[in-house]
Amino acid sequence: MAFQTSIRAAIGVASSVVGPLTLALQRRRDAAAIFLYHRVGPGSDRAYPSLPCETFIAHCEFMRRHFRILPLGELLERARTNRSLKGCSAICFDDGYRDFIDYAYPVLRQFEFPVTHFLVTDCIDTNVPPWTYRINRLASHQRLNRRDATKTVESMPRGDRDAWLSAREVGTPMPPMPSMITAADFASFNPDAVEWGSHTASHAFLDRMPESDVAEELRHSKERLEKLVGRPVRYLAYPNGYYNQRIAELSRAAGYEAALTVGQAELSHAAPMYAVPRFDVGNMPASMLALEVTGVVERLRRLQAP
Ligand SMILES: [Zn+2]
Repeated sequence: MAFQTSIRAAIGVASSVVGPLTLALQRRRDAAAIFLYHRVGPGSDRAYPSLPCETFIAHCEFMRRHFRILPLGELLERARTNRSLKGCSAICFDDGYRDFIDYAYPVLRQFEFPVTHFLVTDCIDTNVPPWTYRINRLASHQRLNRRDATKTVESMPRGDRDAWLSAREVGTPMPPMPSMITAADFASFNPDAVEWGSHTASHAFLDRMPESDVAEELRHSKERLEKLVGRPVRYLAYPNGYYNQRIAELSRAAGYEAALTVGQAELSHAAPMYAVPRFDVGNMPASMLALEVTGVVERLRRLQAP
């Protein structure tokens, strides 16, 4: 415990002292960082806490100081064609929580940052969050083990999984579920500021499904989203970042130009286009971003490992 406390203290010191230095070094490297967000806003949802608005603004100020925020497509094109990635970055959101409209989007517009948001198309149609959120919500409010429940339902067909969750939600007093972006919301976005990507039809863990179901998830969500937004859907984000080589091949076959995972790693020219890494920002303060991006936190965490 004392050792863990000292690691935490080391991270704290590092964030104030080493951060600016490591960032300066980072900017010399020919690599980019793609930042991944989920929820921004006030409130204290135990099932999926939001990044406070003031922290998100601090992140944006940090990014404006240290990075050039590009549309995702432009960044990937740079990586693909061996053009410089130095100091470049892109911003992504996953899942399609509606608080994006109220809290994140106005800030992004103010900073003139482009964003790519990956949507779960079943959630658009039902206004119900992904099943992973519903598991978290149940685990927060009744005696349900999140890991066991996830294992139980992750390979189920969509309908069975929904029925399993609904049966446990009935009669459990819980706060209402957050709203999701719906079809009616698309008109309120500047189409040049927001690009929409697929996060599959049902937030499926693709590496735990039969291949025919994977192909259907990828195809259905792309077609549905393209109808809704009236533009090609070029990119896919694997739910939870789970993928394998075959899923990468199926993503290409479904017509996606690239697919993104979660790797807490920088984007280099060597990164395969169907395994593009992103930094999941989680709820970290702005001072930690520099350390995450430069790998300092990862090295300290390795020290902490038994
Ligand atoms: Zn997700």
